[in-house]
Amino acid sequence: MKLTFPHMGTAYIPFRALIEGLAHEAIVPPECTQKTLALGARHAPESACLPLKINIGNYLEAWEKGAEAILMAGGIGPCRFGFYGYVEQEILLDLDIPLQMFILEPPCNGWRELGDKLRQLAHNVSPRQVVQAIRLAWAKFVACDRIEQLTHVIRAYEIQKGSTTRVLRNILYQIDCADTVTKVREAVRQGQSQLGSLPQEPGRSVLIVGIVGEIYTVLEPFVNFHLEEYLGEMGVVVRRQLWFSDWILHHIVLSTLRLKNDTHLYRLARPYLEHFVGGHGLESVAHSVALAKEGVDGIVHILPFTCMPEIVAQSVLPLVSRDYQIPILTIVVDEHSAEAGIQTRLEAFVDLLASRRQGRYANLHKLGGRGEDRKGTRIAVPR
Ligand code: SF4
Repeated sequence: MKLTFPHMGTAYIPFRALIEGLAHEAIVPPECTQKTLALGARHAPESACLPLKINIGNYLEAWEKGAEAILMAGGIGPCRFGFYGYVEQEILLDLDIPLQMFILEPPCNGWRELGDKLRQLAHNVSPRQVVQAIRLAWAKFVACDRIEQLTHVIRAYEIQKGSTTRVLRNILYQIDCADTVTKVREAVRQGQSQLGSLPQEPGRSVLIVGIVGEIYTVLEPFVNFHLEEYLGEMGVVVRRQLWFSDWILHHIVLSTLRLKNDTHLYRLARPYLEHFVGGHGLESVAHSVALAKEGVDGIVHILPFTCMPEIVAQSVLPLVSRDYQIPILTIVVDEHSAEAGIQTRLEAFVDLLASRRQGRYANLHKLGGRGEDRKGTRIAVPR
């Protein structure tokens, strides 16, 4: 079967490995572009969340490439994600597009439905091959996240603008091509050394900015207008709080085994938000508090227009900002957002953070301080 799936950051790499490991053909949708978004926005309800619109665009583009079926995650909880797969199925039916949908529901309410779907998907392979496919896909999830995390630091110190991103693309390609777990680990080792040998200015003063928000907008660079790359190239170390491998570990593996423990998140969020509100709303608040306590310079909170859990988080983040004296920039994206507008806001935000640092620096001078901030970092204005 020719299987496709929604595009979401680097997740296409492990998804491809998983699908091919189950003896299907993976039809990776083309990278998200304005065309993808326009296709999705044309056929999805206007009030649907942005990720759903892009998913629809992905499916239509993959269908043009020959896809026969879609692999999609299901969900439960107070946000709309649980309906996504079914709404998407209806939209495709209305369009007369014969794409079969495999919606993998979390097994919290029983294994039978999920087991049936997995049996259908894995009927061509032995249990041993299924385990191998899952191991390889998991190794790739972890590898992609680890490498991206490293680039979030290195990019802020690069001398030649764009060099980190160029090397990252090459490493991701090597991870994508690796057909065993050993080769994936080797690609990561080589990637780390390539990134480490990039010309850098280690003494450069950098700002540190945390990224929180709705998972799809945080992970998909087309939707967030390459936020992390843009900040990094302005000399900002990015501290992203959501990773696909973490999401799988906590929301699928540990949650299924009833070993998921969110107590620390609830404890951090409690003064502002006491309940799970769906999606990553609670995490956005808890992560913002954690980042503020760590002493980052600022936080960017990004969400799709009409995202219910993140609107709740957005309403309480000003209190976090006030209590911890930390600037928080909220960016809401939809199909009408434009790159120039987002970049202008980011530049203004970084300028604000830099001047706050300078203010602290000036005060330290007045007091006879050492010219360092509370984390001991030398203070200067970023490029
Ligand atoms: S988290 Fe937000 S964007 Fe994602 S499905 Fe829920 S409401 Fe929509």
